[in-house]
Amino acid sequence: MYLTGKDSTEKHEPTRSCVICRQRFAKEELFRFVVGKGASDSGLIPDEKKVMQGRGYYVCGNEKCLERFKFFRPRKKNFRG
Ligand SMILES: [Zn+2]
Repeated sequence: MYLTGKDSTEKHEPTRSCVICRQRFAKEELFRFVVGKGASDSGLIPDEKKVMQGRGYYVCGNEKCLERFKFFRPRKKNFRG
């Protein structure tokens, strides 16, 4: 027997945190970026299909987050972390 009513608390959608505001969103609501490979491309590349390999960074659709994300730089793995 299955309940057909909506119950948001029982969902198991993959969620990710916005790297700017740290709020959690459904993965599909976020924009994904990956770190570009190669020294000539150190920026973050938008991954519209969410299929690219590598460390992904997610940002939500909030205007402020998108604005701040332009200045966001992923930390390098130089030290423990
Ligand atoms: Zn955000």
